[in-house]
Amino acid sequence: MFDKILIANRGEIALRILRAAKELGIATVAVHSTADADAMHVRLADESVCIGPPAARDSYLNVPALIAACEITGADAIHPGYGFLSENARFAEVLEDHRITFIGPKAEHIRIMGDKIEAKRTAKRLGIPCVPGSEGGITDEDEARQVAKTIGYPVIIKAAAGGGGRGMKVARNEDDLLYALASAKTEAKAAFGDDAVYIEKYLEKPRHIEIQVLGDGRGNAVHLGERDCSLQRRHQKVWEEGPSPALNLEMRERIGGIVAKAMQELKYLGAGTIEFLYEDGEFYFIEMNTRIQVEHPVTEMITGIDLVNEQIRLAAGAPLSVKQSDIKIEGHAIECRVNAEHPSTFRPSPGTISYFHPPGGLGVRVDSAAYQGYRIPPHYDSLVGKLIVHGRTRNECLMRLRRALDEFVVDGIDTTLPLFRTLVRNPDIQNGQYDIHWLENFLKTGGLGEEA
Ligand code: ADP
Repeated sequence: MFDKILIANRGEIALRILRAAKELGIATVAVHSTADADAMHVRLADESVCIGPPAARDSYLNVPALIAACEITGADAIHPGYGFLSENARFAEVLEDHRITFIGPKAEHIRIMGDKIEAKRTAKRLGIPCVPGSEGGITDEDEARQVAKTIGYPVIIKAAAGGGGRGMKVARNEDDLLYALASAKTEAKAAFGDDAVYIEKYLEKPRHIEIQVLGDGRGNAVHLGERDCSLQRRHQKVWEEGPSPALNLEMRERIGGIVAKAMQELKYLGAGTIEFLYEDGEFYFIEMNTRIQVEHPVTEMITGIDLVNEQIRLAAGAPLSVKQSDIKIEGHAIECRVNAEHPSTFRPSPGTISYFHPPGGLGVRVDSAAYQGYRIPPHYDSLVGKLIVHGRTRNECLMRLRRALDEFVVDGIDTTLPLFRTLVRNPDIQNGQYDIHWLENFLKTGGLGEEA
């Protein structure tokens, strides 16, 4: 096992990793930019190192500074959290050269899954069902026309290097297609420095359903059921829950079994998530995230398995702590991502939190690095915290969530709490009847009303 872990991240996920390390009896090193000198993860870690100025490229993405911080403190492993360097295969390799363990998958798997064209090809080979589309990248307009004609409109053009919902364009007919192709390429080039794109069938009313996996890197792998992340704004998840209101046990076991088998064949190491669109009883692979995800607590609450603890143990070469037959889904969990944004315009609202009162009680978990008097720096993402609620049934979970949301006070800045208070009272949400477009339509048609 490791003696000391350096956490190459900030905010709530840095705290989350710190908690898992402490429970394993492992010392922790926080790193921070000058903008985060007062951050909670810095206060709670055993040691801390300032690694640069506020801009992420000079601090949290500064590989030489991170390696120097390991050398100074004697850390023997780095946990990258999510975002930043978590899906950077080169970073994983550089750490290996320095004899520092990267707490994450093998570099080759990060690389394959980081290129969505290669990821789809691999998924197909492993027997995972995919969205119909181009075999590889699209090189010219004729090829785009040909593929779109074969799979039928509407189609979506997506960036091979895509992430965060960027570089995606929908085309409803041939007239749209060439413009969509050009603009997706331009956006992809600007966002990722790579203009490779591919085409797939655009599904009109799917749900986003993802399967959590764990693997030991030697051919053993399990799945931990699904999370339904259909409530999205601009392709970004807002509310996540598990189990999905749209699946039953048989469907879960079918898709979970396919995914676990694929991960066994791949000899996948650590935690990962296979994302699908789900429509009319069919699953279609869209991508794999080779890291811990923001919404991982949903799975922890319904399985009782500490995913970050597993990540650390697996990276140290330990076997999986559970067999597939040990994993039982119990009750229901919902996570709300509370952002420092205006609840209807979504304008970022950095500033100082003048009063902070998180909710508590049975089945209520708040993963947040915020505190009263904390000043949210403008340089990073707008997540203030995640409220995760568990109940024995979905209905109990919704009742508890409503209560917890009413109890949650964050003053001094705008947050998206009022949006969630409206959502939890909405009949479609209560009935579990929503697809990936539901939230955008709801917001467009003034669903928030006076609330915001
Ligand atoms: P990113 O890596 O940028 O998050 P994903 O491939 O995971 O991109 O897709 C993000 C979201 O975009 C999905 O959850 C879904 O809402 C939408 N999306 C992606 N592919 C399709 C598709 N083929 N049809 C309809 N919606 C899609």
